[in-house]
Amino acid sequence: MTDPNPLNLRVAIVGAGPAGIYAGNILANSVREGGGDVAIDLFDSLPAPYGLIRYGVAPDHPRIKGIVNSLHEMLDAGSIRFVGNVEVGRDIAIDDLQERYDAVILATGAIRDAALDIPGIELPGSFGAADFVAWFDGHPDVPREWPLDAAEVAVIGNGNVALDVARVLAKHAVDLRATEVPDNVLAGLEASAVTDVHVFGRRGPLDVKFTPIELRELGEVPDVDIVLADEDFAELELAAGSSNQLKVILRTFQAWRSRGATGASRRLHLHFWHAPVAVLGDSSVEGVRFERTALGDDGAVRGTGELRDIPVQAVYRAVGYYGTPVVDAPFDTARGVIPNVEGRVTSSVHGASDGEAIAGLYATGWIKRGPVGLIGHTKSDAMETIAHLVADARAGGLAAPIVEGDVLELLDERAVAYTTWDGWLALDAHERELGAAHRHTRERVKVVPRDEQVEISRADSLALS
Ligand SMILES: Cc1cc2nc3c(=O)[nH]c(=O)nc-3n(C[C@H](O)[C@H](O)[C@H](O)COP(=O)(O)OP(=O)(O)OC[C@H]3O[C@@H](n4cnc5c(N)ncnc54)[C@H](O)[C@@H]3O)c2cc1C
Repeated sequence: MTDPNPLNLRVAIVGAGPAGIYAGNILANSVREGGGDVAIDLFDSLPAPYGLIRYGVAPDHPRIKGIVNSLHEMLDAGSIRFVGNVEVGRDIAIDDLQERYDAVILATGAIRDAALDIPGIELPGSFGAADFVAWFDGHPDVPREWPLDAAEVAVIGNGNVALDVARVLAKHAVDLRATEVPDNVLAGLEASAVTDVHVFGRRGPLDVKFTPIELRELGEVPDVDIVLADEDFAELELAAGSSNQLKVILRTFQAWRSRGATGASRRLHLHFWHAPVAVLGDSSVEGVRFERTALGDDGAVRGTGELRDIPVQAVYRAVGYYGTPVVDAPFDTARGVIPNVEGRVTSSVHGASDGEAIAGLYATGWIKRGPVGLIGHTKSDAMETIAHLVADARAGGLAAPIVEGDVLELLDERAVAYTTWDGWLALDAHERELGAAHRHTRERVKVVPRDEQVEISRADSLALS
């Protein structure tokens, strides 16, 4: 429906993960439907777009990675200008953006691990799942080498990220060859000494946060046996009215229990009712101490006092991600989010009702509500945030920009080697060519080093200058 006073906006979005891209697309559609116009600049600190879809989702999940096809169409439609390799807070300040745009949307997501505060967690051989994920997905800012010399490995956590980490550790490298996994990662995994991966959850088999598809997939990994302990399944009953999801999860566990061991060369053990107490070892990880847990009468999990030491030479904590703050934007360190009310950023870290909304500053995606939920959830997030932004614009609640001119001029003045949408198309084509040229059938092979990505992305503009 045409608006009697059509909007004409300039908006900056920080973060080109799914949340930022959905926000840009929904904003463009919403303003244009009202007969207005909007210019959107989408910044990312990485040279390439797509956030955790490129650098979080596991390489052996091509169907999920395929969501980039619809995000690609949104970025290719011409309403959103991608500006990569620009870190907001370092290369350009939030203030610089607020001076140049009617509104700024923060969609910086999460890339780091949440802390697990137990003794020994800092020992060599103890890793964060997020760092390992970033390594196997070819993130440019993590070391290229990863130590995979442990035969027995513990993964602490009972969510999908724990399963991704356990699956990639247990899988034979040959079964990842057809994926987009970078060559250095493939070589690292080929040399892995792993034989046993142990996944530990604090609660029971019916309290897991795994999705049934991800769980079932574990049982299909070639030459890997799933091992479950009978004691963890004692007195296990589905409550009346349990979800179908839970029924599938239980059926999957029961099928594995009746299948038993097949003599595979690697094993993936799923342990329940184990709360981590300490990582053990003098100069490197030698084991993890757990306290056996049980359900109390009130339904809460409590320690039983029984301690168990499990020998492992490496431990990965997969206990959640922690949001990425932006320099000079408010941040709630306890929750790891930018404080906001339904996407309107507030000055108070206490969240909901007591903070003053900051005019023209919004948040969406994982940095808005915390690092949980699937890619699809970032779309509903964006709809809520954009509805408020558009309402604020209609109510005259945004401060008009005070600096004219293109932000790219500022970036040029500061000699920031920003990348563009055309640059991404060039890098994308290059990675696909590498995949096609490979002796295995691979859709793409990722380019990892940042300078190489930037060089390929900027080749055209450098040739013109
Ligand atoms: C290991 C793992 C596996 C997952 N697997 C699945 C799955 O199989 N299916 C599924 O649906 N979901 C999956 N998810 C969840 C999904 O990745 C998230 O829901 C989604 O990526 C969150 O989107 P976002 O845009 O909020 O954040 P992100 O995807 O993290 O994007 C944020 C972007 O902001 C950029 N940024 C950060 N700070 C700055 C700054 N200062 N300046 C400029 N740019 C900045 C980052 O570089 C990044 O590109 C997985 C998540 C993880 C961690």
